[in-house]
Amino acid sequence: DQLGRLESGRVVSRFGQHADILTEEGEILRCNIRRNVSTLVTGDRVAWRRAAATEQGLQGVVEASEDRESVLCRPDQYDGIKPIAANVERIFIVSSPQPAFSDQIIDRYLVACEDAGIEPIIVMNKTDLIAEHEAEHIAQRLSVYEQMGYQVFHASAATEEGIAELRAAFQNKISVLVGQSGVGKSSLIQAALPEVSLAIGAISNNSGLGQHTTTVARWFPLENGGALIDSPGIREFGLWHIAADRVTYCFKDFRPFLGGCKFRDCSHTNDPGCALQQAVADGELDAGRLENYHRIIQSLEQN
Ligand code: GDP
Ligand code: ZN
Repeated sequence: DQLGRLESGRVVSRFGQHADILTEEGEILRCNIRRNVSTLVTGDRVAWRRAAATEQGLQGVVEASEDRESVLCRPDQYDGIKPIAANVERIFIVSSPQPAFSDQIIDRYLVACEDAGIEPIIVMNKTDLIAEHEAEHIAQRLSVYEQMGYQVFHASAATEEGIAELRAAFQNKISVLVGQSGVGKSSLIQAALPEVSLAIGAISNNSGLGQHTTTVARWFPLENGGALIDSPGIREFGLWHIAADRVTYCFKDFRPFLGGCKFRDCSHTNDPGCALQQAVADGELDAGRLENYHRIIQSLEQN
């Protein structure tokens, strides 16, 4: 077969042995994946060549994939843990007052982000719905995250508060949005990234494409650079395969105190000489963070 020169491209989505590749010219071509290329996922950078179009509509061949900067995974009933997106740089953790604000859920996402080595950004959406009685609590929890160095955005898809700032935070980055169902992820995409919203709508309305196309992760380019990777599975990204000692490290505010406990196997509960308990008593560590840490450890032990 006649093959063109090697070019670099980006995996938009993969369907078995085929992948849609975004070319450097901004074209999307369906390509065959050579057998020797290890599992490709959305966001992977690849080397590919143009080839004579086949009956199946294939227009090229993926020859090789590049190393990943980061990888997001999800559990799979056959494969254990399965990669679903590569090279993500920012994870927007969306929260809201309805469904109820939960710093426990935020902490679980933060651990997953730290574990994957990806920058988390916390988005407090639906600021228009924060009731008076909960405003102080929410503000206090968000200030804990800011003090730890995490970026926090206040937004409302309804009033457009913070939408321009949010759009700017997506520029020139590869991002995903995560958060519970109903917190407003779709609404924020619609408000801040209308080009992505249109593309998602076009895919889900085109029922002829088959179920695969609407469930598999997909790369959505942003108008002024950067991309959003999205799929129903990605939005549920979480803590799948993490060990307890790794969780401890992924609470980044714990790090200055780790190694200071009297006992090496300290459970950081009521053990004598626990440096984390002492830090809470001294006001150097947030008590809620230590509580959420214990909840996460307990939930891992139950699985
Ligand atoms: P998703 O499941 O996270 O994608 O959430 P959706 O975007 O579907 O939003 C869930 C519901 O919350 C919808 O009825 C939205 O209209 C509503 N919603 C989203 N953002 C806001 C907001 O900032 N303020 C208000 N009042 N409602 C919102
Ligand atoms: Zn301890």
